[in-house]
Amino acid sequence: MQPIRLFLAGASLAVLPLLAPSSLQQASAQDTKPGVERLYILNCGEGVAGDISRWSPGVNVGKSMDFVDSCYLIKHRQGWLLWDTGLADAIAAMPEGQRPADPRATHWRRPKTLVSQLDQLGVKPSDIKYVAVSHTHPDHVGNVTLFPQAMLLVQKAEYEWPSPVGPRFKPDHPVTKLEGDHDVFGDASAVIISTPGHTPGHQSLLVKLPQTGAVLLSGDAVHFRENWENRRVPEGNDSKDKTAASMQHMAEVMAKEKAQLWINHDKAQRDGLKMSPDFYN
Ligand SMILES: [Zn+2]
Repeated sequence: MQPIRLFLAGASLAVLPLLAPSSLQQASAQDTKPGVERLYILNCGEGVAGDISRWSPGVNVGKSMDFVDSCYLIKHRQGWLLWDTGLADAIAAMPEGQRPADPRATHWRRPKTLVSQLDQLGVKPSDIKYVAVSHTHPDHVGNVTLFPQAMLLVQKAEYEWPSPVGPRFKPDHPVTKLEGDHDVFGDASAVIISTPGHTPGHQSLLVKLPQTGAVLLSGDAVHFRENWENRRVPEGNDSKDKTAASMQHMAEVMAKEKAQLWINHDKAQRDGLKMSPDFYN
């Protein structure tokens, strides 16, 4: 038996060097190619918040603040992901924008439509593979219906949150109802992080860019930097405790991933960022 065993061992050793180098090269080329290639910040609204103590009870009473509303378009080698859809494009046609019922809330305008900004990049709404929304307030879901073929990525708790005006999404829109964190492309380059509190199924998005590094897109887990630094909870939030816990969780994710925090509505921060058609890679 001894010679046969030696022969087999010799055969496998002889075959391995022939197969291994090319398959190893393929694997390493695959691994080094970035999953997420680009991130574009789109202008999805501009406005004035009438009284920012609405977002920080008892603090800054009567003080107004300029807000922005951002959407983020992410190019992954498997397809396009749109994070938040902003205010409805129809608001772009309103000369005075959309005045809020509560004067303490935000008076929104839409200087550019979402569709025109996609068009500028040569992207058609039908090219979008995934639409993920941080939550279902109107300044985030205003254009979901422009993407009827895209897979919606939304927390089950948000999707099923009762609304006085009927379903939060068209019942025939394809949807993946999430229950917690979700790795969108399966390669950890774009991971939805469950951050409930502002609404029952609020979520944020961690994006890992090859040059820029990790960025955590806040959604409305926080509205501007001062509230982040002081962990302030807006008066209208669904749960104060969950909001505080989500901010703590975000801080832990940021520390672990060495991630920047990009706060959706923070105009001062966004004014320092590159807007589409410029991009981050
Ligand atoms: Zn918002």
